[in-house]
Amino acid sequence: MNNLRHNVKLFQSLLPKECALMPAVKANAYGHGAEEIGKELQKLGIRDYCVASAEEGARLRRSGIHGQILILGYTHPKDFELLSAYRLTQTVVDCDYGKELEAYGKKLFVHAGLDTGMHRLGIPCEDYSGIRSLWDCKHLQITGVYTHLCTSDGESEEEKSYMKLQEMRFQKVLNRLYKDGKRGFSPHIQGSYGVLYRNNLTASYAFARVGIGLYGVLSECSEILRQKYDLKPVLSLKARIECVRRLEPGEGAGYGLSWRTDSVRMLAAVSIGYADGFPRSLSNKGHALVRGRKVPVVGRICMDQLLLDVTEVENVSPGDEAVFIGTSGKLTLRAEELAQEAGTISNEILSRLGERLVRVPV
Ligand SMILES: *Cc1c(COP(=O)(O)O)cnc(C)c1O
Repeated sequence: MNNLRHNVKLFQSLLPKECALMPAVKANAYGHGAEEIGKELQKLGIRDYCVASAEEGARLRRSGIHGQILILGYTHPKDFELLSAYRLTQTVVDCDYGKELEAYGKKLFVHAGLDTGMHRLGIPCEDYSGIRSLWDCKHLQITGVYTHLCTSDGESEEEKSYMKLQEMRFQKVLNRLYKDGKRGFSPHIQGSYGVLYRNNLTASYAFARVGIGLYGVLSECSEILRQKYDLKPVLSLKARIECVRRLEPGEGAGYGLSWRTDSVRMLAAVSIGYADGFPRSLSNKGHALVRGRKVPVVGRICMDQLLLDVTEVENVSPGDEAVFIGTSGKLTLRAEELAQEAGTISNEILSRLGERLVRVPV
């Protein structure tokens, strides 16, 4: 929780005063526990949040979050009642969807989503009359207009210039809306990388929808960014060693006996598996820290267990901690490293951490 507070302050210091953090707490706050994280953020004075779905929004509201909760994705009309019952703010994902929201016939808070080049959600930014027509919907209270950058984490010139192009298109729409007398809405465009690479942007905005960075993690290992910004990882991932046993040379272990000993080896079984979100692709590949030493994952990862070769570590016994993300002694394993070994980004690793894992706020 100290690290979360540190990261909140860090991001706030990077943003102009008028730009508020709107933390992305979707996917159970990137696996950290939306309720625990939401409560802490609210204590820190955060008023605005974004989630992926109405169900996530309703759950967050029930957990005691009072401020604005923006749903970034699509809500089926049968769930529109969740929007009004829990006072959730819905993204208008395209023009027809705006009409469906209006047809619901009750006052709804919305942010207009604009597609400035990612081509995922949003009204195409070229369709100005479509965008403008939202203001004719008398049940829709348009409190925000936003877009999403798709190359803001890139360091190449091509990616940087596409980020600028998206902002330019966004600005063009905003200026036309202002000219047409449309006011009272908050524009926003940045996620974590949009803040970390904010020098590639020209204007300032009302909100920054920061996700991965608030959890103290980058999507991928980037020495440049890590040296520039002192992000502190919020989460450690630990499991206990259940059993330790001695294997003779030439024995195999785990499903398919995919790992074999060539000498006497000490093997530890640990109570975490792919059902907890530890990727099975790290079979015979991943690492953990035990008693301050780095040890390899051996054999195939099971649903509820995995095996570590702890031969090089002295006095390993049942009940000891195995650290998969976090610190043990002088060593640290970062989510970015785990993700790299698994061939993915840390966002995926964190957001898939299973329900069975106990979240312990410290
Ligand atoms: C997930 C998401 C974010 C947060 O992105 P990070 O890179 O994790 O900061 C922001 N905006 C939208 C639309 C998103 O879907």
